[in-house]
Amino acid sequence: AAKADGRARLRVYDESLEDDAELQLQLEEDLRDALDTGGLRMMYQPQIDTRTGEMCGVEALIRWQHPTLGAIPPDQFIGVAERTGLIRPLGDWILREVDADARKSGSNFPRSVSVSINLSPIQFGQSNFVSHLTQIIKQLDLNYTVELELTEGVVMTDAEHNLDKLRQLKALGFKLAIDDFGTGYSSLSYLRHFPIDTLKIDRSFINDIGTPDGDGIVRAILGLCHALDLTVVAEGVETKEQALFLADHGCQILQGFLLGRPMPVGDLMAASEQNYLPLITDSGSSTQAS
Ligand code: C2E
Ligand code: MG
Ligand code: MG
Ligand code: MG
Repeated sequence: AAKADGRARLRVYDESLEDDAELQLQLEEDLRDALDTGGLRMMYQPQIDTRTGEMCGVEALIRWQHPTLGAIPPDQFIGVAERTGLIRPLGDWILREVDADARKSGSNFPRSVSVSINLSPIQFGQSNFVSHLTQIIKQLDLNYTVELELTEGVVMTDAEHNLDKLRQLKALGFKLAIDDFGTGYSSLSYLRHFPIDTLKIDRSFINDIGTPDGDGIVRAILGLCHALDLTVVAEGVETKEQALFLADHGCQILQGFLLGRPMPVGDLMAASEQNYLPLITDSGSSTQAS
């Protein structure tokens, strides 16, 4: 019953979570506890290469099972961490946990897939972020490719200073992706001159595939990526029609519920042994992966 009450309470506060000072304090305290004693874990969502149908990467996504409130979405507690200084310990925990999971899955994620890790803008913005990260990764294996995901706003504001940081991250061996591309503000010249490897097309655009404007916008973004020689990932692919359109127009990588939901590391190995081509080509059945 406590759990049910907790869920109900969270739902009530859903809209104005950030405005509820008491709940914010509670969540801060509980998040601190969770970092010490458990309740957080990473899930991994497959990214599929449209040319081979093989899993080529995974995105690490954090989950928090709160003792009384139930599952709290990352969109809500990342903000708590950002406002309270917990974002650094949380960010460190995420890196260590991903690395521990990599070892669990055989010292390397399956078939050498790359792992994408989201960075909070606040985390990235901290002045000694790069030197701190350098210290952390010294303690880790990281014998697989790690791509760090940043949003447009982070990359494009304070461009000179951030360009420097991005170069340092590249020098540490990370790949860099722009997450939720198209929802923020991007300058084409920045895109060209910044050391970005990958653009992730925001799922709102993928959702509009099938409408004339939607098709046009996605084609334009894919054209831009090809012109700038960027890898492109489509986020939020839910239907075979979307997958077919994207593959037809040269989108290299698909991510979304059609291909697989975020899953525990223990399920990754089996998922990576599957070939996904039937899901994303005309010849296959239209059954969705679970
Ligand atoms: P994001 O980085 O853009 O992650 C993609 C989100 O879309 C994930 O939500 C994922 O579960 C969801 N998604 C994937 N495929 C589909 C689909 O086909 N349909 C729909 N409707 N949704 C799909 P999630 O895990 O709730 O994460 C939300 C956001 O929270 C993330 O957006 C990211 O900004 C942030 N986040 C999640 N994990 C972390 C983390 O470890 N660190 C940081 N700093 N932020 C994180
Ligand atoms: Mg992301
Ligand atoms: Mg995204
Ligand atoms: Mg996001």
